[in-house]
Amino acid sequence: MSIAPQPADLQRLETILREVFKHDGFRPHQAQVCLSLAQGNDALLVMPTGAGKSLCYQLPGIARGGTTLVISPLIALMEDQVAQLQALGLRADRIHSGRDRMTSRQVCREYLSRQLDFLFVAPERLRVPGFPEMLAKRELALVAVDEAHCISQWGHDFRPDYRKLQERLPLLRPAPIVALTATATPLVQDDIVTQLGMTSGKRFIHGFRRSNLAVEIHKVAPKERPELIKKLLSQPGRLPAIVYAPSRKQTEELASSLSTSELRAEPYHAGMLNRERDAVQRRFIAGETDLIAATIAFGMGIDKANIRTVIHTALPQSVEGFYQEIGRAGRDGLPSRAILLQSFGDRRTHQWFFDKNYPPTSDLATLYKKLNAEPKASEDLKAAMRMDEELFANVLEKLWIHGGALVDADNQVCKGQPSWKKLYQEQRDYKEAQLGQIGRYVESAGCRMLGLIRYFGDQEDSAQPCGICDICAPTASIALQRRAVTKTEQQLLAQIIVALSAQDGLSTGKLHRDKLEKVMSRDRCDELLNALSQAGFVELTDETFEADGRTVRYHRVWLTAVGWKAASQPEQLERVELASITGKKKTLGRKRVETAVKKSYDLDEIEAPTGLVEALKHWRRKEAERVKAPAFHILGNSTLAEIAAKQPKNDSELLSVTGIGARKLDKYGAAILEIIASH
Ligand code: ADP
Ligand code: ZN
Repeated sequence: MSIAPQPADLQRLETILREVFKHDGFRPHQAQVCLSLAQGNDALLVMPTGAGKSLCYQLPGIARGGTTLVISPLIALMEDQVAQLQALGLRADRIHSGRDRMTSRQVCREYLSRQLDFLFVAPERLRVPGFPEMLAKRELALVAVDEAHCISQWGHDFRPDYRKLQERLPLLRPAPIVALTATATPLVQDDIVTQLGMTSGKRFIHGFRRSNLAVEIHKVAPKERPELIKKLLSQPGRLPAIVYAPSRKQTEELASSLSTSELRAEPYHAGMLNRERDAVQRRFIAGETDLIAATIAFGMGIDKANIRTVIHTALPQSVEGFYQEIGRAGRDGLPSRAILLQSFGDRRTHQWFFDKNYPPTSDLATLYKKLNAEPKASEDLKAAMRMDEELFANVLEKLWIHGGALVDADNQVCKGQPSWKKLYQEQRDYKEAQLGQIGRYVESAGCRMLGLIRYFGDQEDSAQPCGICDICAPTASIALQRRAVTKTEQQLLAQIIVALSAQDGLSTGKLHRDKLEKVMSRDRCDELLNALSQAGFVELTDETFEADGRTVRYHRVWLTAVGWKAASQPEQLERVELASITGKKKTLGRKRVETAVKKSYDLDEIEAPTGLVEALKHWRRKEAERVKAPAFHILGNSTLAEIAAKQPKNDSELLSVTGIGARKLDKYGAAILEIIASH
């Protein structure tokens, strides 16, 4: 029997909203989405966390009648949602690995006898033979795919199980499909729509504008950042705050240098024990801690409405990540600030890490050529490749991930599929493109918020500048001090104006190179151009051109009417103000790429008690066999070597080993410590 879609008009949906969900009215965009889904169309919904996405599948599900299937990647999330729906008196249940077989069977029976309004399952459940077929015995009201960005390898949380959905979903049709996520660039959006086969679908991309969040982006040399952060956070109204730093060590240094008798600051990173992290988070939410210094690598799931300031102490890895992180500020709707401190050196650091983490495709190809059907020991391959431990481990791992090498629990390697090359190249290009995007974002001359909104492809946004970022409202910036120009600076400004009056609309690079190189540095020229732009003498525009299939971005500079006047009346330039970073002593100089070169441990060179290395290796092989993964997937050789060399005695010492984070500690900590203790 099939359930005919009920005629759904807005009034009926509003009644359900009030009577079932106990809300007085729809939040922005919810009504359109609910209506479209209730009428049986597919939909892709991208709205920020907290915008109210869940209602957008729950309400149309009820409106259509029958069971809504919700595919959700996290058990905790499922449990939460089920509890909430049950509290509303709805019939919701879930099947996941945390429940026993009997219970799951019972839930299936309830589903088949149409006793469920909502059934939550993990994506991997759909791979269990017979399960999708069981679901298909009843026609579903709606299929909701939560955290849908996980389906795309371009998304930042790619899960292979989601990828298999495209094979299973056709069985569950003709139910409409809604895909929901808080984070999807246009590329990821396309991927979701294609993979889920959402033909009739409409995209609802909304709510990326955060009108209470003022974004500031400043060029500040690394060594000046800690002092500036201290000054910023001591201003009234800046706490509670989150400061994001790129390394564990830096979060610890920041937390200790920012702590005072009035300000309680704590670090938060993956190298801490779970219970320590939970305690820090609890104190922050309870208001006992004012500031958390956290690594960006670690997803925080912090739900605190009154965060006033989010500071990034360095350039983030991607625009998406940046948006997610600053999005934690000002959930209560009150004015909040996000401040990003960076300099060109940050990009070189990123590039350095990129080159390290994504070896050239040719390196992988060389290794691939050395492989055949006969298993070879990875140690022998490493010798033949003449690479150091770290690089080789990386090359092998990347080749393995992309299917070009098969590796067993003994680290014996055979040849895999040639398709690895395309997959790896795509992944590498994508990562590189992300670095380019964040670099261009911080260099852009346009409104900071508008830059983010455009990045996400928010369609119905007003496209108006935000009015509060450091570009729209430079005088409101809390990180900048303003001062009058000196006589010398005024002369330099006049030279810029004269050069432009001879040839207007030059690119900033050409203007400097052709006309001003002898009198000022490029940094100085950019600084003065910004000051001229803010005082209304020139206008800077974002431009692009195509070269060798790449888009190159640059700025052009144009004289305004006032600017033309100043060409003959240079005294007008007196009123230009220069911005300098609060409390900064010198202008930004060129800096070496700062990269902490870690000591890398080699199994052949370390000193360790007899038998320890062998015992650790033996354990690693057993573990690898158990989970059917290569040995290096359990622990890399250099991690194993470092453990043997340092012989950590407890969890904290083990966490200080490179390559051991909270997750590995959870899984393997006890076993490793036991092996060490017995030697
Ligand atoms: P998201 O999934 O987008 O992060 P949720 O669906 O969890 O957001 O919703 C966030 C909060 O907003 C929830 O507490 C939810 O009950 C509430 N909410 C959703 N829609 C409405 C509404 N129309 N009126 C009032 N509260 C709502
Ligand atoms: Zn703006």
